[in-house]
Amino acid sequence: MLVLGIESSCDETAAALVCADRTILAQRIASQDEAHRPYGGVVPEIAARAHADRIAPLIAATLGDAGLTLDAVDAIAATAGPGLIGGVMVGLVTAKALAMATDRPLLAINHLEGHALSPRLADPDLAFPYLLLLASGGHCQLLLVEGVGRYRRLGTTIDDALGEAFDKTAKVLGLGYPGGPAVERLARQGDAGRVPLPRPLLGTAEPHFSFAGLKSAVLRAREAGIHADADIAAAFQQAAIDCVIDRTRRALALAGPVGALVVAGGVAANQALRGALEALAAAAQLRFVAPPLALCTDNAAMIAWAGLERIAVQGGPGAGDPLDVAARPRWPLDPAAAPVRGAGV
Ligand code: ATP
Ligand code: MG
Ligand code: FE
Repeated sequence: MLVLGIESSCDETAAALVCADRTILAQRIASQDEAHRPYGGVVPEIAARAHADRIAPLIAATLGDAGLTLDAVDAIAATAGPGLIGGVMVGLVTAKALAMATDRPLLAINHLEGHALSPRLADPDLAFPYLLLLASGGHCQLLLVEGVGRYRRLGTTIDDALGEAFDKTAKVLGLGYPGGPAVERLARQGDAGRVPLPRPLLGTAEPHFSFAGLKSAVLRAREAGIHADADIAAAFQQAAIDCVIDRTRRALALAGPVGALVVAGGVAANQALRGALEALAAAAQLRFVAPPLALCTDNAAMIAWAGLERIAVQGGPGAGDPLDVAARPRWPLDPAAAPVRGAGV
């Protein structure tokens, strides 16, 4: 079983060919960082146009890398949401066209499900249930992953995502976009203890997150002009990590027995965060699983893999979606989760 995955929900155009035995035959990712850098963030219209320009040659090149044609593909999986709707539509419409032309099933995949299941692509021993911290530019959620299609959202952010907070901090410190890696680098040279910053929602019963106040505090610290930028970066990163660890500990208490603590999403690239989560898992006598970085940030292998997981559970052609399936800007993984003030998907 070979699935072609397509991802276009934010600012990465990506295609991948993944087998049921977890082999990634080929994958390509075209990042749009250069196009958005002048604006300090992703501009939806620019993103949609860039996806439209790149997606067809990118898929052709990915097939070429594997030395295959579409004939070898058994199903086509594409992100159908949540995300920037113009980009999602480009990927989904492309997948529909390919599915129609090849008479293969179309799998409309929730991008968050791709992130949630990607650790199992990297690690065949990762069994359900596990607690997942999904921390990216658009999301910060604690999900109990009970099985394919069975996700319980225990916590989410009530304002900014964690990656967004890193990006905004980078902007305040003049570090450019995307800011997460730059903040982490600068933080290594700083002393977190020199700048007092708040830890929003620490100790509260529901494991939700809030990072907007932290970002404002970073701005005030910078404007005060008495702190070195490296100290501010270190203090921000430490405050953010303290919040994440406290919230994740709370979620573990609520989740019941789980086999592992798992982190995914672009912020999982942060080594300080990984270290803190690893220590939390060790203290709770849990396995800690962090997929390789290439699977943590947006990619198409995770979309193909989510398709394969669904096929394995629901059976071959029956797992397909109708060709008129709609692209969705919002698409909660856990529809039963109570709305949280200010929270996104
Ligand atoms: P979505 O939220 O829809 O998944 P996205 O493209 O914003 O979309 P990712 O590609 O998974 O998400 O992650 C990008 C985010 O990860 C950015 O906000 C970036 O700053 C952050 N990030 C990347 N590396 C690091 C790092 N080393 N430390 C902190 N944050 C990081
Ligand atoms: Mg991205
Ligand atoms: Fe993502």
